[in-house]
Amino acid sequence: MASFTLHGIPVSRGIAIGRAHLLKPAAREVKHYLVAEERVEAEVKRLTDAIASVNDELRTLRTELPLDAPTELGAFIDVHALILSDPIIVEEPLRIIRSRHYNAEWALLSQIDELSAQFDEIDDPYLRERKNDILQVGERVLKVLTGSAQPLPPAAPAAPGDYAPQMIVVAHDISPADMLQFRDRAFVGFVTDLGGQNSHTAIVARSLDIPAAVGMANASQLIAEDDWVIIDGDAGIVIVDPAPIVLEQYREVQAKLMRERKKLGKLKKTPAITRDGTFIHLLANIELPDDCPAALDAGATGVGLFRSEFLFMGHGGQVARLPSEDEQFESYRKAVVAMKGRPVTIRTLDVGADKPLDKAEETALNPALGLRAIRYCLAEPQMFLTQLRAILRASAYGPINLLIPMLAHAFEIDQTLAMIKQAKQQLLDAKKKFDPAIKVGAMIEIPAAALTLPMFIKRLDFLSIGTNDLIQYTLAIDRVDHEVAHLYNPLHPAVLQLLALTISTGAKAGVPVAVCGEVAGDTKLTRLLLGMGLREFSMHPAQLLSVKQEILNSDLMLLEPVVKRLLKSYEPAAIAEAMERLSLV
Ligand code: PEP
Ligand code: MG
Repeated sequence: MASFTLHGIPVSRGIAIGRAHLLKPAAREVKHYLVAEERVEAEVKRLTDAIASVNDELRTLRTELPLDAPTELGAFIDVHALILSDPIIVEEPLRIIRSRHYNAEWALLSQIDELSAQFDEIDDPYLRERKNDILQVGERVLKVLTGSAQPLPPAAPAAPGDYAPQMIVVAHDISPADMLQFRDRAFVGFVTDLGGQNSHTAIVARSLDIPAAVGMANASQLIAEDDWVIIDGDAGIVIVDPAPIVLEQYREVQAKLMRERKKLGKLKKTPAITRDGTFIHLLANIELPDDCPAALDAGATGVGLFRSEFLFMGHGGQVARLPSEDEQFESYRKAVVAMKGRPVTIRTLDVGADKPLDKAEETALNPALGLRAIRYCLAEPQMFLTQLRAILRASAYGPINLLIPMLAHAFEIDQTLAMIKQAKQQLLDAKKKFDPAIKVGAMIEIPAAALTLPMFIKRLDFLSIGTNDLIQYTLAIDRVDHEVAHLYNPLHPAVLQLLALTISTGAKAGVPVAVCGEVAGDTKLTRLLLGMGLREFSMHPAQLLSVKQEILNSDLMLLEPVVKRLLKSYEPAAIAEAMERLSLV
């Protein structure tokens, strides 16, 4: 096959080189992992046992069929039994387990996907319909397998000579919750047809620190299973079946990036202080408490954004089961304890838009403008109170700040504060401990909020700017839609004005202001934010050291006048020129 290149949107930096694994929507509902060499035969047995068990099941069904049952029913069971004895269904997945080390579910699904694609090509409608029988038989086996699944092993580090195929996931789309499932797995990169730079799927890919490119239009149709693929996560390009010389060049770039990363590692313990002596807080964005060790390892001085909704979201399109108060409390406490006395800012549930609680609930026409985040929580007071109690209880174990997403109206702030008061009272009544002086802050992520800051400052203790949504709502661009991704611009003068206004108003009022949207981790914008007066940056741990390096090389005295002038510009060319100047001072 000839090599070809696809262009999309870069979302997570670095170079990934590996073989494509096409992830079909149904395939996402089963676990995907590689089994170690010594466990391959056990995995083969797991699949053969499952097939035998389904065979028994079908035999029992057949013999227990009532005499008056319609004849088609018997024929139907016979067809399924026949399918299950076909070597194409039975032998091929075993071969896949042995040759590729896929887990049993994945091997079976790969083969079923392959067969169902072949059936789609058949002209005869009767034969084409037989595809459903194959899918149903596959489902039966999968159900048995899922019950016998082993706990997911962590990805084994590749050793020379090991069977360590580097795999790149290629999918039409991946939900943020599903993306999160890929942590610690064998995948080294992600390519999706859909998605924007700041979709939550992209954000999770960045937090996993895995090269990814989205908005690739029809990559999942053009790339075939097992194709060699290079992802250039900086340029947002994907090279399929690269020529050996191209592969060689990318391997060199990859090695260089690794060396640079290693060098950055030396800054872990260096405090983030500008050349003229100003200390900058570098905080971490996390999705789950398990992210805390990486945050500490990167030298974060706390957690600036714990996206608590990831504790709530269902995977693989399953209906989410809301975690109980105790389960939530354990997760929040785990994060607080892991951060060893450093503050943890927990954002209350921000579901909706591209983070639905469960996919079945996606009904709104414009979900980003619908019942999301605090709007959802205020509409579900019992659920909200449960979360507030859980967070408050965890505050007895270390410093927690409560962050509320998507506030725009004074009455929303007042209702939220009233509910926090109510949750505190409930805990007092139950004689449960919490920090009575817990700080409460607002995400500034709706332009209306940025334009009414006194309303927030009067009622709350701190502000955190969510630039991902602030840009989305200011420029009326769906952050998930790759077709308008080119319009998503943090340097639009309207965005710059709202950012600068929020930072300076907070500073004047003595109210701490952080930025926790993706711009905080973008080194091209570090100097700009410093010059606006920002002193708290919250980002994925993987971005922290590069931002720190930028801070160590910055001199506020030199930056501030350039930024002041930049903020007077409304012409893109003048802004671009000022940005260029900023990078040189
Ligand atoms: C934001 O909107 O910038 C933000 C940090 O929140 P999220 O990306 O989770 O919407
Ligand atoms: Mg947001």
